[in-house]
Amino acid sequence: MPAFICPRCGSRESNIERNQQHQPRGCSSCGFGFLFELLEDYYPSPKTALITCDQERRILAVGGSTFAATGYNESDLIGHEVLQALGVQDYEGDDPAERCLEWGVRVLDLKCRYQPAGEGELKSATVDLFPAYDEDGGLLVALTPA
Ligand SMILES: [Zn+2]
Repeated sequence: MPAFICPRCGSRESNIERNQQHQPRGCSSCGFGFLFELLEDYYPSPKTALITCDQERRILAVGGSTFAATGYNESDLIGHEVLQALGVQDYEGDDPAERCLEWGVRVLDLKCRYQPAGEGELKSATVDLFPAYDEDGGLLVALTPA
């Protein structure tokens, strides 16, 4: 069964009816305008920054924990390439956003470091990336500070 997650508040909705073409109307917890479809359920930590991106990896919307996790406001981030905007680096393997978008696969539990706003030091984090299944493509990036 598909699961849906609100990219704003992290609320999950797995038992909603999906009508033929459209995703469910929005988040019943916070009223955010769209939900992100996941193939399998995912449980973000309350610390997890949820960041929704378009198919060019540009940030479209950020979740409520993003400021606490990264120090960036949504207005700092919108329109920027996600891995660059967060300074995500020191991960193993190829570019995880490219793998996610190119192959349409989840990339889970990727250890990395990132650059929080206004801090000189990199912080450790775990990043999960989920491809979107709607026609617009895109991806959801979940960054959880270690
Ligand atoms: Zn919500």
